[in-house]
Formats: sequence, structure tokens, C-alpha cells
Amino acid sequence: MNKDSFEHDVVIIGAGVCGIYMLYRAREIGLRVTLVEKGDGPGGTWYWNRYPGARFDSESYSYGYSFSKDLLAEWNWTERFASQPETLRYLNHVVDRFDLRQGMQFGRCVKAARFDEATKCWHILLEDGDELRTRFLITAIGMLSAPTLPRIDGLDTFGGESFHTYHWPREGVDLDGKSVAVIGTGATAVQLIPEVAKIARHLTVFQRRPNWCAPLHNGTLDVDEMAQIKEQYEEIFARCARTPSGFLHGPDRRDFDSLSVQEKEEFWENLYQSPGFGKWLGNFVKVLVDPSANAEYSEFIAAKIRERVHDQKVALKLIPIDHGFGSRRVPLETDYYEAFNRDNVELIDLNETPIERILKTGIQTSEREFEFDLIVYATGFDAITGSFDRIDIKGKGSRTLREKWIDGPQTYLGLQTRGFPNLFTLAGPQSASVGTNFPRGIEDAVDWTIRMLKYMRVHGYHHVEASLNAEEAWTAHVKESYEAFWFHEVKSWFNGYNSNLDGHDRVRHLVYFGGAPEYRTRINEIASRDYEGFEFV
Ligand code: NAP
Repeated sequence: MNKDSFEHDVVIIGAGVCGIYMLYRAREIGLRVTLVEKGDGPGGTWYWNRYPGARFDSESYSYGYSFSKDLLAEWNWTERFASQPETLRYLNHVVDRFDLRQGMQFGRCVKAARFDEATKCWHILLEDGDELRTRFLITAIGMLSAPTLPRIDGLDTFGGESFHTYHWPREGVDLDGKSVAVIGTGATAVQLIPEVAKIARHLTVFQRRPNWCAPLHNGTLDVDEMAQIKEQYEEIFARCARTPSGFLHGPDRRDFDSLSVQEKEEFWENLYQSPGFGKWLGNFVKVLVDPSANAEYSEFIAAKIRERVHDQKVALKLIPIDHGFGSRRVPLETDYYEAFNRDNVELIDLNETPIERILKTGIQTSEREFEFDLIVYATGFDAITGSFDRIDIKGKGSRTLREKWIDGPQTYLGLQTRGFPNLFTLAGPQSASVGTNFPRGIEDAVDWTIRMLKYMRVHGYHHVEASLNAEEAWTAHVKESYEAFWFHEVKSWFNGYNSNLDGHDRVRHLVYFGGAPEYRTRINEIASRDYEGFEFV
């Protein structure tokens, strides 16, 4: 790489879990690198999402970075599933521990990025008008970092406080004595609702479609437990590397049909009582791929909901009827169903009584007018491509990435897209990292990218671009990875749906569903075949 022509070899956008690690690795190999971040500190998802109840549903010790034995040895998680404040502390600790803060520029929002074909350089325009120039542009902009508000009339007319969960005020919100509305019942709302219910005078939950939720079973970790975990880190990460989703929980491959009803129920009961994602990802393979096996398990979970919710009319509303367990992302919960047994909590089914408009004082449904002090929109995200669309990214021939991906993303390995040389889309669409325990997935993607940058340096290459054939083949392969699952048309953000955005009312192939081990093998084989499918100059 020519050291003279640009200010930077690499500019990274985003100081979340992925950007922090990319910065660490890029500095390690001696690149001139800077990282720009919109927030005023590192943390990404864990910096922004400060709503009460926000926490991992990965076991904490399977979520931390695996790259440094010293870091693993010195950090003590205090909960099995760490809360947002603890995770934010962890990420700040990593940044300071490896002296990364000085490589980060905070409060700097990227507005546009343009590839200059004459100089083969990326020009990055910041919202403050400043411009950076770099050979490589690396996006680490998150998969769920473009929040979407509902399309409801009168949104701006509400006189009380209102915000999306992603923008939960940093200074906190005093919920005591307040009448609160939460719109949405996805994983975020499922964490938030029990916490608000404990404090608010009254909570009204507006639900369009229920999700299949299952208990998290969080608990504290003491120093002795952490000492044991530290002994086992190698095995923990090796196990995560073997499972399709990068979690500790991998599918049970026993023959479903050869088991008795009692054997299945005992197994499911055990999963239900155990911490974490076992109820979903540790289930029988057939439950995950076959509608009738899935229906059996869904009924098992429905019975749990009926047991936990006292009013059976409410229980019925909380049981999904339009999709099976695990065909959308499963929210893990702590006392979610019990929250609906409280006198101060009411569930409004929007299928029966849709919201007509937001009023100055509250919400008008087709049936009645509600008064609120606070409205919380837990209405999800423009997932995975949304954070790209918010930056005006122009590649060769001034073509925008937004235009290129308008009918769905096209990528090679989810890491590059043709026409945008030297742009690496870490945690981008069609990579495996977006469908896995995130840190495990991004470590693969970052390590692979660093290996490529080293390869280019050794061979004196200046830029790299995915070939058309390779991109078409990968995009088709990602599509096939969806078709292996019966739930690929279920309306969820995994499948690219978002009712609050135009053009998001059909399947968009955003995630590589072939599994993390297959993905890792594939990208490493391509690397060892001199980066087959990439064109270097
Ligand atoms: P989400 O799963 O997309 O849920 C959004 C909710 O808002 C859904 O219930 C949706 O209803 C509802 N909604 C959207 N627009 C609406 C409208 N116009 N009117 C009424 N309801 C509307 O978003 P999320 O809950 O923020 O979760 C997104 C993802 O973030 C999760 O799947 C997970 O991957 C991640 N997350 C992770 C954690 C964790 O690690 N523990 C915690 C929270 C979130 P419909 O279902 O009918 O569309």
C-alpha cells in the first residue's frame, strides 16, 4: 500500500462490538487507522439501548471477546446474562485496556462516502462538514441501529414525552406515578414491559402480533463461578465455534420420531427450566425445520403461557397464531407473562381495536381514547440494510449503494459488494455474523478482513472488488439458505419485513442461514485459494 497518498489506510465507521475489534486488529498490523463514531463514547448497541431491562440473551461469558487471554482472565461478569450498563462498562474497559480510545473520534456522524475512481480513494463526508480520505472503508455500523417509528397519524402531536426504545434518555426516565404506553411486543418490549410495570402507575401494552417468548433464567455469577468459567474458556469458545448460531446451545440431533411423547416433554421441560437459548437453538433439529414437529413444541410453550397468565382471555391474546415457535427471533424474558397478571397492566390487541391516531393527550384506538404521560415506541428497526441506507454511499460510476440494494442486497460473502472497491461491510447483509451470537460472528469477519489486508500488502495490491460471478453466486446461495427453512416467509425482520417502511413488505435475503461453521469454512477456503472471486489491482 502506498503510504503517501491518503491520510488513512483504513477508516472504520462505528465503535460498537465490531468496530472496536476491527480497530484493535488494524492497529496491530500497523495500519494508519481511525474510527469515527456518532455517539460520544464506544459501545454501539450497548451505548444507545439504555431502556430498563436491556441485557444479553447470550451467556455473558460466551459474548465477551475471545482474542486476549489476559482480558478473559481479568474480567469478571457479575450476571449470567449481563445488563446493558455492565456490557457498556466491559466495552469501555476493552477500549481503555488496549489503548484504543485515542484512535476513535466521537460525536462524528458520517453523512456520505464517495469512491473516487481517479485516486482510488474513499472520501468520507462527516455531518460537521469535515472530510476524511482513506484507501479502505470499513463499516461496522450495526445490524439494528436504524430505529423505525410506526406510521401512525399524529405522531408529532403528542404533548407528553415519547421516544423509540433505542433513544431511551441517557439520564433515565422517572416512571413513578406515570401512565405509560408501550407499542410493540418484540424482544425489546418483552424486556422493557416487566420493568415499567413494576414502577409506572399504569402500563398499557399495544400488541399487533404476539411473539413466542421463553424464560431467560438470569442469575448472578460470583467470583468462584467466574474462576471456573475462566478455566473453561477454551472449551466455551470451541463449543460456540461448533454450533450453527455461535451460541453455547446447539441443536439436538436425536431422531425426533423415535422418541415417546413423555421423552420429548421431559426434554422440553428441562430446556424450559434452563437458562438461555436452549429452548430454541438447543431443540430437536426437527422442531426447527418441520412444521408438524414445530407445532407440537409450540403447543408445549402455549400451555406454559396459559399456566403463567391468570386471565385466559389475556393468555389467548399472548399466544401467537400466525407463526410457530422459533420462526421469528425468540425473545427471552423475565416475568414477562406475569406482568399481565398485575392490576396496573392492560393489554390492547390491535387486531381487535387498531390505533387510529396519536393525540395530544394519548392514543385513539377504534374503540376508545387513552391518556398517557409517556409513549414508548418499541417498534423495531430497519434491520441490517437500514444503517447503510442512512449514509449516502457512492461507488464506481457514482452509483449509490441504496440504489444497488433497492430490491435486496447483493454481496459476496456479505463482506463486499461489486462496484464499491475497498469497502468492507462487516456485519453487513448476507454475512453470517448478523445471524449469530454477534461477537463470535464478527471475530470471524474481522480476522478474515485483516488477513485479506495483509495479503494485499504483501502482493502490492491497491484495491479489491468482488467479481460479478462471485457476487451473483453468493447472493443465490444466501437465497437457498433461506429456502431450507419452512419459516422463510414469516414476517419478521430476519426476513427483511418492516411494516413501517415502503418496499419492506416482501422477503429480502438479509442473513446467511447456512450456519457459522459452514460460513467460516467457506470464507477461509476462499482466502486460501488466493481470494477466489475477488479482483485485485
Ligand atoms: P422487533 O422484534 O422488530 O419488534 C417490533 C415490535 O413493534 C413488533 O411487536 C411489531 O409488531 C411492533 N410494531 C412495529 N410497527 C408497529 C406499528 N406500526 N403498530 C403496532 N406495532 C408495531 O424489534 P425489537 O423488539 O426492537 O427487537 C429487534 C431485535 O433486536 C430482536 O429481534 C433481537 O435480535 C434484538 N434484541 C436483542 C436483545 C437481546 O440481546 N437481549 C434485546 C432486544 C432486542 P409486529 O410483530 O406485528 O410487526
